[in-house]
Amino acid sequence: MRDSTNADISFFDASNVKKELIEHHGGCHCGTIRFKVLAPQHLDVFECNCSICIKKQNFHFIVPKANFQLLQGSDNITTYTFNTKQAKHTFCKTCGVQSFYTPRSNQDGIGVMPHCLDPGTILSVNTKKYDGQNWEESYQQSDITKYSLNRFDE
Ligand SMILES: [Zn+2]
Repeated sequence: MRDSTNADISFFDASNVKKELIEHHGGCHCGTIRFKVLAPQHLDVFECNCSICIKKQNFHFIVPKANFQLLQGSDNITTYTFNTKQAKHTFCKTCGVQSFYTPRSNQDGIGVMPHCLDPGTILSVNTKKYDGQNWEESYQQSDITKYSLNRFDE
């Protein structure tokens, strides 16, 4: 006879639980911009020290573009670019809050500000440093590109 307790245990894999995706909701401060995003509850968050990230304390986790959906506010978004113009620093015209953006490192992804998510869906944050002051070198050494792929293995 099958033991259901053991069967349940065999399905439990801590590494998979960590990667399991759930729906988070978030937005800017004034509420004009709202989005939902599929991401783990245990987030790898990048802390970058490039010229703009340091000024705006741009902590972000990265998801594949397909995992992000803007629910409202598209006409109230303005975009700042500089230098290579690959990073699209999108923010709310009304309150100035950047709740998500397109990182230079992940053109196929979206960088989301964990501090702009509605409370209650993040279980843990693992902060990873990205040395944006030496961008090219960091890009080669970092695993940052995997975060916008649909599937990745650690
Ligand atoms: Zn706003």
